[in-house]
Amino acid sequence: KVRVRFAPSPTGPLHLGGVRTALYDYLFAKNQGGEFVLRIEDTDTARYVEGAEEYIEEALEWCGIVADESPKKGGKFAPYRQSERRDIYDRYTEQILKTDYAYIAFDTAEELDAIRAQYEARGEVFSYDNKTRNQLRNSIALSEEEVQKLLEEKTPYVVRFKMPVDRTLNLEDIIRGKFSVNTNTLDDKVLVKNDGMPTYHFANIIDDHEMEISHVIRGEEWLPSLGLHTLLYEAMGWEAPQFAHLSLILKPEGKGKLSKRDGDKFGFPVFPLDFKDPVTGIVSKGYRENGYLPDAFINMVALLGWSPADDKEILSLEEMTKEFDLYKVHKAGARFSKEKAEWFNHQYMQMKSDEELLQILKNSGLNLNIEDEKLLKIIHLMKERATFPKDIYENGKFFFEAPTSYDEKASKKAWNEETSSILTDLIAKIEQVDFKAELLKQAMHDLAEEKGLGMGKVMMPLRLALVGELKGPDVPDILELLGKEESIQRINNAIN
Ligand code: GLU
Repeated sequence: KVRVRFAPSPTGPLHLGGVRTALYDYLFAKNQGGEFVLRIEDTDTARYVEGAEEYIEEALEWCGIVADESPKKGGKFAPYRQSERRDIYDRYTEQILKTDYAYIAFDTAEELDAIRAQYEARGEVFSYDNKTRNQLRNSIALSEEEVQKLLEEKTPYVVRFKMPVDRTLNLEDIIRGKFSVNTNTLDDKVLVKNDGMPTYHFANIIDDHEMEISHVIRGEEWLPSLGLHTLLYEAMGWEAPQFAHLSLILKPEGKGKLSKRDGDKFGFPVFPLDFKDPVTGIVSKGYRENGYLPDAFINMVALLGWSPADDKEILSLEEMTKEFDLYKVHKAGARFSKEKAEWFNHQYMQMKSDEELLQILKNSGLNLNIEDEKLLKIIHLMKERATFPKDIYENGKFFFEAPTSYDEKASKKAWNEETSSILTDLIAKIEQVDFKAELLKQAMHDLAEEKGLGMGKVMMPLRLALVGELKGPDVPDILELLGKEESIQRINNAIN
């Protein structure tokens, strides 16, 4: 059975890379008829950020990525928060210490700093490994009696992995294929800290085993840990899951990883509003706050590293689920593009009905002092040019309020000595007609013909009078929407 997990650490907001990992986890699980698990990896208390777990859950919910099992939902392998699984880890700590793959080490941070300094003084790099472990205070270097004594004195200790000497590990990754690593390039990582809590590496493989995870899909930054993880499975006598490491999401320039520091511009959280990153101090608005529609956002994220067989670009979550193929995920980094992200949003805006956009606008926190019926008409006229819901409002402000000034350049272009008299005649004409775009258009045509004028001589100043600049949808549509009274008043204002 395919079981996939997303295992974020609650150290801050979910950034774009995290969302993509979660999405690929979800798409693969669902494509295979399997299960998708959310597990919170919170054993590193030093990096814990208050509220980050809630944030992550809310972000996934907004994206429509629903977990089958999670801290909130529970499930048959609960608890799903590592901080609540201590007894399980304790059991396996005991187990691994009985093998030849782990040992305990009493070195203090000061002792380690001192030996590191000695190495550096000689121009060498210290690494806690098979070449140095004998010089340190651990159960390999010390006699059994010494170890016993230290334990009786309640000396704090950590558990370290004992990296085998000179073994070639043949590893395999679904996206990257086969490669090998020699164990001499790896060090003796801490598995359990001196407070008894496991580190990421140990807790991670225990939980993946316990939770019957079949496929580990995660960011490329974990690829260097694959050797250790593979050996940990070996040490525990467990079958390892399959691994897929996703390539980086690159900056728009194509060089370098899209990082937290790009967050304020584009890399960053789905929300909340004005999130202040604890590390960088950058305050950023999320995609949600910036007006991205969740389905557009998810669509954009999915294509950062994968494309469906027919290179189709617009896909719903359901369609992506049907078509997703983990084996076709790109090995090369995917370049993020803000323009592309906006393009997706624009496309999805067009796919929404006027009624749906009305609800979105009403929920967007804008102060819309206008009845639904009219707003619907504005939406209908303005959505074609809108990338974000707020564009409908911002580009259509003239529907809500009469212009108080006229764009100077536009005035020069649209207005001359005869304009006032043309518009006065126009008022006389449109006063007589039912305010429907078609009829109004006809009235303008008639006037232009009678006067022997080009349509532009009527249309342009009229637009300026109604909008304040030479922008917006078709003039007859604007007239109809504003209504007779308001339109005539605006034209009169402009004439005088
Ligand atoms: N807790 C790790 C992280 O924050 C999970 C890595 C993994 O999926 O193994 O990225």
